[in-house]
Amino acid sequence: MAQHFLLSAASRTLSLRSIYKAGEDAAYATFCEMRWPETNGEAVCPRCGCWETYKITTRRKFKCKGCAHQFSVTSGTIFASRKMDFVDLLAAVCITVNASKGVSMIQLSRDLDCQYKTAFVLAHKLREAMAQEVQTGEVLDGHVEIDGAYFGGHIRPENAKANRVDRRLKENQTGKRRVVIAMREREGRTLPFVGMTEGEGVALANENVSRMDTMSADEASHWDELHMGYHVDRVNHSEIYSDHGKHTNMVESFFSRLRRMVSGQHHHVSPQYLYQYANHAAWLEDNRRSDNGELAHRLVANSMDSPISRNWKGYWQRAA
Ligand SMILES: [Zn+2]
Repeated sequence: MAQHFLLSAASRTLSLRSIYKAGEDAAYATFCEMRWPETNGEAVCPRCGCWETYKITTRRKFKCKGCAHQFSVTSGTIFASRKMDFVDLLAAVCITVNASKGVSMIQLSRDLDCQYKTAFVLAHKLREAMAQEVQTGEVLDGHVEIDGAYFGGHIRPENAKANRVDRRLKENQTGKRRVVIAMREREGRTLPFVGMTEGEGVALANENVSRMDTMSADEASHWDELHMGYHVDRVNHSEIYSDHGKHTNMVESFFSRLRRMVSGQHHHVSPQYLYQYANHAAWLEDNRRSDNGELAHRLVANSMDSPISRNWKGYWQRAA
């Protein structure tokens, strides 16, 4: 039997040992190359686009010869105002891409020996960088599967039976329950959204799936509306999971990864940031057959291409 790709040596092309052995200067060079690939890492002024700069080596900054603007390799990117060493940032990227179901922020803070708050914001910034590749705005095509799965809002039953409430009733719920609606091409991308009810998926499909396509959905009645716009394969899960190619197994495997990520690593995710975890799981799902060096490379490149985060820049200062 052929060896599974993830068990092969070809899937391991980057290690923490090699990152720390190469050191801070090499890590810094990597960030420069990812930020300015068109000049092989030579600085380009973000304000005027000028290629000629003075290097202020002691502070790892640049000054533009054209407009005198001072900037660093992370200026204007998601890592702007970073305090962490480049080698630790690279290690964080490596740890993040190695974890196929994500890694909790406590664990990341222990691995990097930084505060929990630092790890929390860093991990969320990396998710935002991943989302650049997931939420591209391009419509899905080919054969697209759609499904929804509910997360959060768990109500713990009281200890004594006499004190327990009917958890199905609206007045007893927390209002924190959300549904992740995911569409997945059989041969390609995964596209997740977060909503209040699974039925919102019909409108999302109309916006994000090409009209020429075949879709697959389960027996839930709100998917009936999809038949107006698409050819839809339906599969009744109470009878069968896969019926001669009619199935939603691809999108279910995305949910399986996201469920394990939430229950096994994060334990609790706030409804506000559920979409970030969904994008993270989608990115891992879509890139599951790439080696870890390639994944780290892409994640650094995405980070250097992501603008300053409105959500995460100064998060703890605002919260204080
Ligand atoms: Zn300039």
